Amino acid sequence: MASISELLKTNTPTLSFEVFPPKVKDNYDTVEAAALEIAKLKPSFMSVTYGANGGTRAFTTDIAGDIQKNTGVPSLAHLTCVSSSKESVSEALKAYEEKGIENILALRGDLPTGCDEMPADADFRYAADLTAFIKANSNFCIGGACYPETHPEAANKDADILNIKKKIEAGCEFLTTQMFFDNGVMFNYMYRLREAGITVPVCAGIMPITNAKQVERSIKLSGSIMPPRFLALVDKFGDDPKAMMQAGIAYATDQIIDLIANDITHIHVYSMNKPEVARAIRDNLSDIVVL
Ligand code: FAD
Repeated sequence: MASISELLKTNTPTLSFEVFPPKVKDNYDTVEAAALEIAKLKPSFMSVTYGANGGTRAFTTDIAGDIQKNTGVPSLAHLTCVSSSKESVSEALKAYEEKGIENILALRGDLPTGCDEMPADADFRYAADLTAFIKANSNFCIGGACYPETHPEAANKDADILNIKKKIEAGCEFLTTQMFFDNGVMFNYMYRLREAGITVPVCAGIMPITNAKQVERSIKLSGSIMPPRFLALVDKFGDDPKAMMQAGIAYATDQIIDLIANDITHIHVYSMNKPEVARAIRDNLSDIVVL
């Protein structure tokens, strides 16, 4: 299985999709079926998110393992460290290894409600600490998250980029961005990353908004700026699910083509367990991203 940092080393466009595990076992089969259907589109890789408190770790492990076993598509299993001990992280690494997973997206995770920062004596305070631990104790290829519109807890834009640099120094080999809806924000961010000496590959995170409810959730989650062109589209089509789905996929496709045309060639789509959305994006790019 290829390491994801190797896949991202060339300038040839890549396309990856993300799925999230179910919260409860009853939904496992539905989510697994959706994940495998998306994987059958043969993306460059698939990422599987991780429940922040680790309660659904087995689902992440099993879905990521099954994607690789059944479709041959490399999996990127997410792992968060907030409120985790070295022992529990070691167990998670062992479980990933046993499933043949070779790539991890190392994250801190969101702080528990009411907590402003991780205590100084926590086993892991930041994603960089988790990255260093994984690097020292295993052979995984490690990626990390970055934020074109600045992480909400960062003191300022420059401090946030310096913190990304610490993550790279700890062993992070590639980055995936938080979703953004205005490519201008991403072009500017890439310039600032490169100016800071960060040269690792960066996957641009694109979220196709396919229903109006998702807009509010996405703003809350990412703090992203929604360009007027995008808001007009939600205003016009938000009450018509089929029209909104078509418009959201067209907007995401347009964003991706503009990114690739401007040499941001690695695209990660937050496909939200929706095979129909992943397939539409894949089809729209069939001659642009040749996989
Ligand atoms: P960090 O890199 O640790 O950064 C967190 C904050 O601390 C930032 O403001 C940073 O500037 C600051 N910081 C970092 N290092 C230092 C330092 N040394 N000193 C002072 N400040 C510092 N969450 C999940 O629960 N599960 C998932 O699967 C998941 N997947 C994600 C995938 C992507 C691509 C993205 C963008 C986010 C994902 N998240 C996920 C959300 C993520 O866990 C949160 O955004 C979290 O708040 C930050 O995680 P991080 O890994 O970026 O943290």
